[in-house]
Amino acid sequence: MSFARKDLVGIADLEEHEILTLLDTAERFRELNERPIKKVPTLRGRSVIHLFLEPSTRTRTSFDIAAKRMSADTFSVGGVTSSAVKGETLLDTARNLHAMRPDVIVVRHKMAGTAALLAKALPCSVINAGDGFHEHPTQALLDALTLRQRLGGFEGRTVTIVGDIAHSRVARSNVILLTRLGARVRVCGPRTLIPPGIEALGAVACDRLRDAIEDADVVMMLRIQQERIDQGGHYFPNTREYSRLYGLNLDTMRRARPDVLVMHPGPVNRGVEISPEVADGPWSVILDQVTNGVAVRMSAMYHVMGADRAEAAVQRGADR
Ligand code: ASP
Repeated sequence: MSFARKDLVGIADLEEHEILTLLDTAERFRELNERPIKKVPTLRGRSVIHLFLEPSTRTRTSFDIAAKRMSADTFSVGGVTSSAVKGETLLDTARNLHAMRPDVIVVRHKMAGTAALLAKALPCSVINAGDGFHEHPTQALLDALTLRQRLGGFEGRTVTIVGDIAHSRVARSNVILLTRLGARVRVCGPRTLIPPGIEALGAVACDRLRDAIEDADVVMMLRIQQERIDQGGHYFPNTREYSRLYGLNLDTMRRARPDVLVMHPGPVNRGVEISPEVADGPWSVILDQVTNGVAVRMSAMYHVMGADRAEAAVQRGADR
């Protein structure tokens, strides 16, 4: 098993063995993250630029913590502090950042395809931290790590993803990853928020929340991606109606298995897609997802920078 790519752009590019390699390495880093001293010299002397041109709390912080725990130097560019607001194109910004010789650029942008564009244009590694409604590969990996720890595996398991599937990069990356690892995936939401062609990715669409969560091992709730819904576009009558039909609360939970796992990538809109009692209840693994985010991002940086191959070479030398 190995991962020999320069970049991590999307789950769609990955073979099953590459996904498993990333998860196995993350498992090792998860142990490190529980130790009193959490720093290793693995990426000493390497530089990571975080180029975040869309809001982020968990992803940005966990990428930064991940890089620092491996002793890399990190630099942040984003929002109003970048020259994007002065009219510079994304590619120009990226080429200028690359001229400073980072080893990795972690990028988040509202445009689908941004990470692929930079990965092609730049000699350094690029990691996708979310490109519009397209993909969020490290989110799907941290979700998979959380599920593997709780369920032991994916084969024969049913995962129901509920909400704004059409505008969610989390849904897309998860449908691809989970079906690739053998899980059954149901998607549920208003028909207007289920993208045409989702079945081609291996998911089954379901209209009613109660039917969708019945027998599911996992229910993953998603936020309505308001920032990607066109001004004036109406996908459902109003938030209260949406919440009544698609919100997970103690009442709807009665239809779920007692041992169901409830996930959410955050940020949670309490009282809209999920009630506080469910988000904080015994089913919830939402904070485990966040914890696993650091380990997965350590694994992603470790592999794209070829640290696994460097370590193996050192080991071969020592064995001679
Ligand atoms: N944090 C996730 C993302 O960046 C989910 C969300 O924003 O709803 O896609």
